[in-house]
Order: sequence, then structure tokens, then C-alpha cells
Amino acid sequence: MQRRDMLKKATIGAAATTTLAAPAIIQAQPTLNWRCASSFTKATDIVFGGAESIAKHVAEMSGGKFNIRVFGSGEIVPGLQVADAAMNNTIECGHTASYYYVGKDPVWAFGACVPFGLNFRQHNAWWIDGGGEELMQREFYDKQGIVALLAGNTGGQMGGWFNKEIRTPDDLKGLKFRIGGFAGQALAKLGVIGSQIAAGEIYQALERGTIDSAEWVGPYEDEKMGLHKVAKWYYYPGWWEPGPALSLMVGKKAWDSLPKAYQQMLRTASLEANVEMMARFDARNAAALKRLIAGGTRVAAFPKSVMDVCYKACQDLFTETGAKNPLFKKVFDHQTRFLSDSTGWLRLNEGAYDSYMGTIRR
Ligand code: CA
Repeated sequence: MQRRDMLKKATIGAAATTTLAAPAIIQAQPTLNWRCASSFTKATDIVFGGAESIAKHVAEMSGGKFNIRVFGSGEIVPGLQVADAAMNNTIECGHTASYYYVGKDPVWAFGACVPFGLNFRQHNAWWIDGGGEELMQREFYDKQGIVALLAGNTGGQMGGWFNKEIRTPDDLKGLKFRIGGFAGQALAKLGVIGSQIAAGEIYQALERGTIDSAEWVGPYEDEKMGLHKVAKWYYYPGWWEPGPALSLMVGKKAWDSLPKAYQQMLRTASLEANVEMMARFDARNAAALKRLIAGGTRVAAFPKSVMDVCYKACQDLFTETGAKNPLFKKVFDHQTRFLSDSTGWLRLNEGAYDSYMGTIRR
């Protein structure tokens, strides 16, 4: 036998051995089967896909040992009770938006976003490097019995669909608007009649005139729902959701029972989902917006006078909330300091670049 053949055989033999036997580190790890409840349904494919992506990548990283089965909203847990189920250890983890739980305590909002708060870039910067995660985990999530991992974002949302023009703050008076949360409360101060219609009923409510306007997500999701067929005006920006983050909420008990390697896999896969989700929205929103405009949708910016009264109403609401809840004030102030420095920087450099590039015709 030639030396070359011998070498080839030896190499193949070695490769076969390593393929068959999993690395020792994986062999030593337990086999786990977890359940993850999502607050979303498959209809919002990019958002729901975040949890599926986390499950897939954790299974791959663990050599098939750490398995997470993802359930859609309502399958095992109602969509708005996902955090509760993780806190109570009914499930090991859930994929959700923390601001769904502000009814329990307004501090929950900071894991997702508050009106006129951080955009996607700023939320990541605040959470990862600005002390946001540490502050929220130590002072809030630990007490809830939750470990919250950054796990997705839709990016800045649109202001939504309107059947009347919004020219001045007076146009907000008596406006029947499908909007919830802090924004709904702030807008109520300005005469808006807010309603919290379920996603599946927005189309019909606009069509029948039960509401004058509704906010949902952005071009890609809104087009799928057909909202352009029942409302003429599409406003921006959605100042109430400048960069809503999603979280993988892991019950503290389940988290503490994990080997370090599995904890890191969850963290890594969640961060990957965070980037991946934003990339998908950025790519698909651009294409959907072009189609909407070509189809006759009138796209318009909220006038500055309207933005100004909304901003003021939100700040008043935050001051009132902070007066009753010291931790809310503490996190709000922490985030606001970060926001003002960060906005100065992003606006100076990337803001100038984006503005310039927007003037070029191709
Ligand atoms: Ca929204």
C-alpha cells in the first residue's frame, strides 16, 4: 500500500471517530425537554419565528440534548400570561414582550420600551453595555423570579392607519383609536378614545367605522393584515414603540437548574434571534412600504405640533407614575440619561448620513 493511501485511510478513520462520538463536554450534559410559550401566533411569522429560532439553535449547539418545544399563543398558556407561567414554573420559559405586564407593575415596560424611549440600537446599547440588563435583572426581574434575556425587536413601529387626517392636536379629540398601554393613557389626556381591540378584529372594526384608526406593527405585518384596504392614511412615526424589545423569560428555578453551558446557549441563541428578527423586519418592511405606496396608501408624518403635545402628555404620565413607584422613576431616569447622550451621537453621525443618502435619487 502506498503511503498516501495509508494516510488517507488514517484520516478517514479519525474523522469517522470524531463524527460518531460527541465531544466529552456534550456527553456529560443532561438531556432536557423544555416548553416555551410564545405570546404570539404563527400569523406574525417573524416575531413568532424568534422563539423557533432560539429552540433550533440551542438544539444544534447542544448536540440535540437541550430541546425546547415552542407553543403559540393560547396553545398551553394565554398570550398575555406567558411571563406569569414562567414565574410560576408552569413552563420553563416564554417568548414575550415585557410591556404586556405593566398592569402588575409599570416597571415591566422597560424590558420592552416606553413611548418616546429607546430605539432598537439604543435599547441594545442600554441593555448590553449601558447597565440596563444589570439594573433590571437585579432590582426587578430577580424579585419576579425571572431571568430575562434580550430576544428580538420589531424596530421602530409605524403610527398606524387613519381614516381622517391628523393636522393639529385638535384632530386627536374624539378620535377612536385602537391603541393600548402608556400611549393609550397619554392620548386619553388629549381627548383620544382608546380601545384595545384584539389583533384579529382590527380590520373589521376599521371597515365598519367602529374605530377611526388603529396601530399594529409596520409595513410588512400591516400589509398582511390588509389594513391598507380599510384605511387611507398611514402615519409615522409610532412614537409609542420606537424599538420594542422582546424577551426570553426563563423561570429562575429552571434557569438555576441549567448547566453553565446551557445557560450560555440560551443567551447566545436569544441574542442571535434579536439580530435576526430586526434584519428580517428591515428587509421586508422596505419592500412592503413600496408596495403600499404603489397601491395608493397615503403616507404622512405626524405634524410636529401633534408630536409635541403627545411627548408632553407622556412625560406627565411618567412623572405621575414615578411619584407612585420609586423603582419606575429610578429606571426611567437611568434610561432617559442614556437616551439623551445616545440620541446626540446617533443623530450627529448616522443621522447625517441617513439624511444625506435619502436625498440621492437612483
Ligand atoms: Ca404596535
